[in-house]
Amino acid sequence: MAVCAYCSNTILFGGISAEGKLFCSERCRESARLLSLSEKVPYRLLIKKLDELHKGSCPKCGGAGPVDVHRSYRICSAIVVSRWTNIPEVCCRKCATKSQILGILYSLCLGWWSIPWGLILTPVQVFQNLRALFRGPPPGRPSVELEHVVRVGLAARIGQEAANPKTGTHRSGSPETAKI
Ligand SMILES: [Zn+2]
Ligand SMILES: [Zn+2]
Repeated sequence: MAVCAYCSNTILFGGISAEGKLFCSERCRESARLLSLSEKVPYRLLIKKLDELHKGSCPKCGGAGPVDVHRSYRICSAIVVSRWTNIPEVCCRKCATKSQILGILYSLCLGWWSIPWGLILTPVQVFQNLRALFRGPPPGRPSVELEHVVRVGLAARIGQEAANPKTGTHRSGSPETAKI
């Protein structure tokens, strides 16, 4: 089965191809584009931001970290159509557990109601939530996915600053931009 070149999720059907690679969503295609731009991000800045995010408090609940990228999976169906999604979130383990349990309940209530995809994919989405619940990113160090999030964020910011050098967020004298 095909796998998304950005998030490594299984692509069940279709996908978006760009530059010889296959992505599960438009979001992943755009992230991959920014990721390739992020080669310009200074390594020390990247490590600093990554460490701050990983050890910092959860952006969702404000509780203690470690913070990482956690995924939850959902499906809803109506007669002949099904819509299934995987939702990445930068949050703490507690918030992730909540989202994954909600994903299971959501899919079990709304997933089944189409033939054949609802019947086939509801167990798949429930299983993916269970796997994410028990085998999330290890807490000891930031995952590659979190590194990608930070890289993409920094690349987007650098891209913006390059596009609008006057209106960008560049402030002379700030210690962070002085290093670049
Ligand atoms: Zn993807
Ligand atoms: Zn949280």
